[in-house]
Amino acid sequence: MGWLKKNPEDNFNTNDIPSSLVLTLNALDRESIIIDTGGNIVFSTEKVSMLNLVKDERLSSQELLALVRVVRRTGTSREGSFEVARGPIGESKRELQITATLISDDGLVLVIIDDEGEKQRVDAVRRDFITNISHELKTPIQALSLNADAILEVKDEPEKVVTFANKIKLQTNRLNDLVREIINLSKLQDSDPMETAQEVEISDVIKEAIDQCESPAQVRKITINTDEVEESTVFGKREQLVMAVHNLVENAINYSPEGTAVTVSTKKNDNIIEILVKDQGLGISEENIERIFERFYRVDPARSRATGGTGLGLSIVKHVVGNHGGEVKVWSALGVGSTFAIRLPIAVTKGDK
Ligand code: ADP
Repeated sequence: MGWLKKNPEDNFNTNDIPSSLVLTLNALDRESIIIDTGGNIVFSTEKVSMLNLVKDERLSSQELLALVRVVRRTGTSREGSFEVARGPIGESKRELQITATLISDDGLVLVIIDDEGEKQRVDAVRRDFITNISHELKTPIQALSLNADAILEVKDEPEKVVTFANKIKLQTNRLNDLVREIINLSKLQDSDPMETAQEVEISDVIKEAIDQCESPAQVRKITINTDEVEESTVFGKREQLVMAVHNLVENAINYSPEGTAVTVSTKKNDNIIEILVKDQGLGISEENIERIFERFYRVDPARSRATGGTGLGLSIVKHVVGNHGGEVKVWSALGVGSTFAIRLPIAVTKGDK
């Protein structure tokens, strides 16, 4: 091949790769990596850094390294699918389809990465979600229809008309909240925040989320304390992170008795920032703790309805945090209170090492 190195022991770098190949790889809508015989990454497309496949300029997946070695030894292309963690913590995974091909006599291997598995997963989640939504929408729509019929029956009795009209108003508000949350969740399922990630300051996220909850807290006479909030930056989408913290603070307010306190704090360790939201509320039993992150699951549907809950809040939190390569934890005791923790990897910028 024209761009063969004279001495195979020499290290390669991106300049050794023909510019026509670099241009082609950058133009594909897939990510790619070129690896030399020492396991070093000679070239990679921009978004590879978001896939948690590379650490210190080397492939971090032993499975993928093994596949590259087989390709180099046999000289034939191989395909495989790999599950890669989205971040250093949490269970959220990404499935990648990979094709590896030997592209030079020096043992350079080109790995093309396709996120097809992710697309299939998103499709499956969406189908399932639509079934749930239809069910959830049916109840308030039926209630609206019943109340409209009731108004027609009592049309000559103004007081009764007002009562039913108020019910319709309440149900319309609820329907509005539900639709808004459904749109939020479906947006999250569609997009990968890491594709347009920015550096986000966590103390700003917390401040904005708390500001948004100020008036419901006042109504329920709940004090929101911020305790030891440290500055820390993560990579991601600011508005999604605000939405996640907002949902936790809103729940802490909704599921606590009047006059109690909610505390928001942060803790940093091992490159992880933890955002803790603690309440002195109802608490959650062990059997329910397993299920509260499911879409539309509520421990007490009547209470959730009364506070304007949609059953989607925690599912949104879980999605946002998972998409950011983090995890959500919860500790709770009935009658004592709950603490929810969002754990996110702290952004490592080039200057940090
Ligand atoms: P909802 O819109 O009903 O609040 P979520 O998904 O936010 O839905 O929460 C699911 C369920 O988890 C709630 O209905 C409630 O029963 C329970 N829950 C959530 N946060 C708390 C909390 N801080 N204290 C007690 N129970 C909670």
